[in-house]
Amino acid sequence: MHFYSTKSRTGKFDIKEAVLDGLAPDGGLFMPESIPYFGDEWIKNLPSLSLQEIGEAVARRFFEGSISNDRIKQICYEALNFDAPLQQLEDNLYVMELFHGPTLAFKDFGARFMARVMSYYLENGSQKLTILVATSGDTGSAVANGFLGSSNIDVVILYPSGKVSPIQELQLTTLGQNIQALEVDGTFDDCQRLVKTAFNDRELREKRPLGSANSINIARLIPQSFYYINAYARLNAPEELIFSIPSGNFGNLTAALIAKKMGIPIKRLIAATNVNDTVPEYLNSGTFRPRPSIRTISNAMDVGNPSNFDRLLCLVKDSHSEMQKELWGTSVTDEETEESMQALGEKYLLDPHGAVAYTAAKRYQALDNNTKIVFAETAHPAKFGDIVEHATGKVPPMPERLAEYLSRKKQAIKIKAEYSDLKDFLLL
Ligand SMILES: *Cc1c(COP(=O)(O)O)cnc(C)c1O
Repeated sequence: MHFYSTKSRTGKFDIKEAVLDGLAPDGGLFMPESIPYFGDEWIKNLPSLSLQEIGEAVARRFFEGSISNDRIKQICYEALNFDAPLQQLEDNLYVMELFHGPTLAFKDFGARFMARVMSYYLENGSQKLTILVATSGDTGSAVANGFLGSSNIDVVILYPSGKVSPIQELQLTTLGQNIQALEVDGTFDDCQRLVKTAFNDRELREKRPLGSANSINIARLIPQSFYYINAYARLNAPEELIFSIPSGNFGNLTAALIAKKMGIPIKRLIAATNVNDTVPEYLNSGTFRPRPSIRTISNAMDVGNPSNFDRLLCLVKDSHSEMQKELWGTSVTDEETEESMQALGEKYLLDPHGAVAYTAAKRYQALDNNTKIVFAETAHPAKFGDIVEHATGKVPPMPERLAEYLSRKKQAIKIKAEYSDLKDFLLL
């Protein structure tokens, strides 16, 4: 399979290049030239397949000729060693729980799969890669967990001192092995700037090859299509269904649109955002107006310039009306998010991100109540315990694998928000 760049809309890159480089040479994102289409027979038979089997079948088509079928199977079974179960909450309304991975957020799907694919591509060479990642909290721990124990890959995480929650900090700083955490005396923007400067430093990269694992990597997107197909299978192949997806950079929603192109009968996708409503606004007005982000309680979605928007444009052939057909957008305030958490609280505890998707789904149901809607719960409520407690008066029970971090000891190296500090560390 070949990939082109979303910027120039040209190029012919193979999947190995796309995965290892992350970004195309012109700065665009990689997109598959064609999306594998699965015929009616396969689609009808889906209820008999597990999440892992679905992943294997889809990944085979993307990695054909690049990774053997046996290895793809192994990668899928190792990466997807947890489930994405559905629960029915109301008539025609289901929650898809994407938080059963090691860091309790849906980013585990993409990060674990990508890490194994990258390790495979590097294992026969002498090349050792350092994945450099700046994080405001959740991405760093999912990526680090994904790569934990990879022999030819080191991970260096930069996080802003005092600006991540205590449990997030423990998730970032206590993994050990090939993972190192740098506690930066500065903001998340400083962390991002330092990482960017390092990627532009040729001298450094010659001495210490760097890799990127951020959310635009195509190897993070592909596995995110698996759970949409799985949801369709677990609902016993309904005639049509709708997904409501809490969105920031729109990777998760792009993966759902890719699942539709594979043949899953998705009637529509609900683009659910907090007040960072660049995409819902575009759907209404036809104007794409990227802007600085606004802080909200669903902070993993505080994105004013969604990086996957160019991929969405490619999927709808730059047609605004086509995008309107595929997507229905709506934006949810913090108050509305809390109201939803409280309203559903007796029955089901939502995290603030899932609550945005739930609110959007309820709004859509006021217009069309005849189709099954599945909304994505992208993080475990215990990850946002204070917010959940404030909205509902209930303390979400902490899963064992999160509680376990509380007894570990933080190990981080402090650096100033100056590039020379980072460079010195990397060349040590
Ligand atoms: C990253 C994240 C999102 C947003 O996903 P995108 O793919 O960036 O749209 C939603 N919820 C949670 C919990 C996240 O961590």
